[in-house]
Amino acid sequence: MTAAADATSAARQIACPKCLAANRVPADRPAEKARCGACGTPLFDGHPVEATEATFDALISRTHIPVVVDFWAPWCGPCRMMAPAYEQAAAQLEPQVRLLKVDTQANPGLAARYGIRSIPTLAVFGGGQELTRQSGAMPLPQLLRWIEAATAYA
Ligand code: ZN
Repeated sequence: MTAAADATSAARQIACPKCLAANRVPADRPAEKARCGACGTPLFDGHPVEATEATFDALISRTHIPVVVDFWAPWCGPCRMMAPAYEQAAAQLEPQVRLLKVDTQANPGLAARYGIRSIPTLAVFGGGQELTRQSGAMPLPQLLRWIEAATAYA
């Protein structure tokens, strides 16, 4: 195999958070600086991406790095309490991990499909499949440890 083929096979596919285009980011290029080839939006901006019923499947299936999803709702106190920690986790863990947020009140179909019974619930996806989940708000250190452990094999 040539060096060029190696670089291609090691490229990471990342869905654009805005237009959902699948972008291939070469392994030797910093993904945190990469922009969408279709619309120019930065692929990572240090914040969780709001996913909806219209965008969730594309974001999950076109992103070939571990994806963490925070199922939350505006009326949920613990969810709002955890939101700043989740923001910080995105800033610290990108671009190795993509963090999504799903407002279960605005997207009840996603909550139903994934059987979300209590919020916040954090779920980790790898290869389009849910790998693990945990319910309950976590402070930042615990949140980082959980995500790192849960995504280690994603
Ligand atoms: Zn785009």
